[in-house]
Formats: sequence, structure tokens, C-alpha cells
Amino acid sequence: MDIFARNNIFDADMNDRMFPHYKFSIFEPFANKIVAFTTLGSQGVHTDLNLRNENGPQNRVELSQTIGFDVARMVTPEQTHSCNVVAVSEEDAGRGALSVDSRIPDTDALITNCKNIPLMILTADCVPIVMYDTKNNAIAAIHAGWRGTIAKITIKTIELMAEKYGSEPENIYVGIGPCIGKHCFEVDSDVAEKFAEIPECVNWVANRNKFLIDLQMANKIFMNKIGVHSHNICTIEGCTHCNHDDFYSYRRNPGNSFRMGTGIVLSA
Ligand SMILES: [Zn+2]
Repeated sequence: MDIFARNNIFDADMNDRMFPHYKFSIFEPFANKIVAFTTLGSQGVHTDLNLRNENGPQNRVELSQTIGFDVARMVTPEQTHSCNVVAVSEEDAGRGALSVDSRIPDTDALITNCKNIPLMILTADCVPIVMYDTKNNAIAAIHAGWRGTIAKITIKTIELMAEKYGSEPENIYVGIGPCIGKHCFEVDSDVAEKFAEIPECVNWVANRNKFLIDLQMANKIFMNKIGVHSHNICTIEGCTHCNHDDFYSYRRNPGNSFRMGTGIVLSA
């Protein structure tokens, strides 16, 4: 399946017997240090990673076998569209891996410098983002909906990485996964107004008096503002809302609780 942004994907595995996913080209040089992935959401190959659904736990096990990480040590947050960032330590290993109850509560970004603790967030239209500090060997996984985006959850994540691990933006490499595209994320003026600080991400649709927001660009701009280099950011641009064969979309199917996963782990 060679769709959009192929240049930003270095390993697209669409084999039915394996868990379909992309890897971000920006991390290819660090393949011996980290593994990062973003999964697809095909109805044909059941790939839902939401623990609340029947197949979620088993799908996480199959994902871990495909990617090659230890699912028992994976950490996931209870996502609440907050801009809360939590530093994961060794004693957190396994929280939210296969049980909803043990997730890190009320959190939308996780960071760690512990090896062999995969961090994963779930999305279906929101922006999934992973980060790798190549100098200090620290990682992050971020769930950025429009609320998290405009609350600058990317900047808050990097600030906590700086505090905990001494990270500097110039050493941070970023993968931004598929989300609802700039031609599909239509909002009313009450949401558009919140993006006044970055008007280049907002397009007015005059005939409907609606606004289209580019969430990937918004996150890139905020990361640039604190010193992440553009050439260190890789974006997979497929629109989750349009591409129903490839992705889950909350907006397209509001009753559908299926979720894709985006994660990163420091190799042991
Ligand atoms: Zn679209």
C-alpha cells in the first residue's frame, strides 16, 4: 500500500499476518537505539488497540510481537485532552499495558529515559507525536487533539524533558503521525479563535462560514518556536478522516471507539 508521504515512511508493513504499521523515516538512523511506530486502522484487518474493546488486549500483544517490544512493560495514559505530561520511571513499567485501571491518570503525554519501557498513546483523528532526544536518550509519546495542540502540549513535553533529562530542543527528533487533515478538520469560530496566535494554520471557508485547522502544522510551529529544527521533524500526512480503508476516525464514525496506536521505546 503506497499512499501519501511515502518518503516519510521507512518500513510500511501491510502484511495481513503482521500488525500493519508505519515507521517514521526520521528515526531510521537510530534504529539500534529506539523503535517507533504508528499503526493503521483497517476494518479488514482488525487492529483496534483500545483496551475497552474486546480485542484490544490481544491486538496489543500481536502489535508487540510484530514490532518487537515487551508488551508487559508498556505504559499508556488515561487520555483526557489535557496538557498534562508525566515522567515514567522504572516502577511504572506495565501501567496501562493490558489493563485500563492501571493507566497513568489524566495524562496526555509521557516521557522517559528508561530502557525497554514502551510508551504508547491512542488516536483516531487527534495528532500522535513521538520524540527522541538523541543526546540524552530520552523519549516522549504525545496525544495532541486540538485542545492539547493549542495548550502547547508539545512545548510542555519538551520542557519536562529538559527539566528531568537535560534535553535541548536542537537534539530532539520528532515523528508526527496521521491525523484528521487540514482539508477535513472543520470547526466553528469559537474553536478557530483559539488559534489566533498561529493564523497560518487556519483557513476560513467563506461559503459556509466555517474554519479549517491544520493541526500538524500547528504542532510543528510550536516546536519550531522553542528550537526544534524543521529538518528534524517528520510528518506522515495521510488524513484519518478521508482514508477509511487505512485509518480509524472518530469524526467519521462517532460511535466507533476503535483506536490506532503510536509509540516509542528505548532499546534495552
Ligand atoms: Zn481528509
